[in-house]
Order: sequence, then C-alpha cells, then structure tokens
Amino acid sequence: MICKICGKEYEPPKKMGRRPSVCSFECHCALEKKQLDKKRERARQMSMAKTRNEIGQEYKCPSCGNVFIKNHANQKYCSEECFKKHKSEANRVYSVRYHERHANAPKTPKQIDKEITPFSEIIAKCKEQGLSYGQYVQQYNL
Ligand SMILES: [Zn+2]
Ligand SMILES: [Zn+2]
Repeated sequence: MICKICGKEYEPPKKMGRRPSVCSFECHCALEKKQLDKKRERARQMSMAKTRNEIGQEYKCPSCGNVFIKNHANQKYCSEECFKKHKSEANRVYSVRYHERHANAPKTPKQIDKEITPFSEIIAKCKEQGLSYGQYVQQYNL
C-alpha cells in the first residue's frame, strides 16, 4: 500500500475493519485535516453561491410584508425604514423580555420577608417586645 499523505509504502495491518489508507497516526491526522478543509471549503463555496443567487430574486420583507428585489445578498428588508423599524422592534422585544425575566426572577428570602411583614406589623411587634424600631431591625437583621 502507498500512503496517501506521505507517499511511503507501508504494510497495512491485517486486522478486520476499515483498512487505513495512510501509514501512520500522523498521516491519519493529516488526512482528516485535509478532508475537513475540503468540506469547509465546499460549504463556504455553496453558501457563497446561494447568496449570489439571491441577488435579483424576489424576497418578502419581514417587517412590512412587501415583496422586493434583492440588490445585495444580505438585504433582508425592502427599505432602510423597515430595517430601522425591525431594529427598534427587536430592541423593544428584548427590553420587554429582559424586564419579564427580572420580574419572574426568584426573590431572595430577605425580599419575601419584607413583603409579608408589613411595616405596621413590625411596629406592633416592637411594642410587644418593648423594643424601638431600630433595636427590632437590628435584632432581626431586617
Ligand atoms: Zn504516511
Ligand atoms: Zn418593508
């Protein structure tokens, strides 16, 4: 057998299974890298061809729904206005989600404690125990 990578002649192992087409582990790694590079290059060319084909094609604006002709591969909106609108909409959605996430965030025990203990109740407890509000707060670490 001739190694695909270094061209050296080698004796393939007589094991069962897939026969290696390279002589050594190093050459095996080199071969895999080569195949990966080839794959990547093919994928890159395909995606380039795809975007190239999109120029001049009809495309529906996701913002206003108008159909327009693409002038460049990355064009997604019919106009700059729609692009801006989309951007501000995305920002709005993001900020709403952000607030929702924070509103639903689990509360710390301290927060819950403060919520279920109204101020008037604390004052009542202070009187009960003969403490000032300051002393009470200190004692219970409120
Ligand atoms: Zn080799
Ligand atoms: Zn539009």
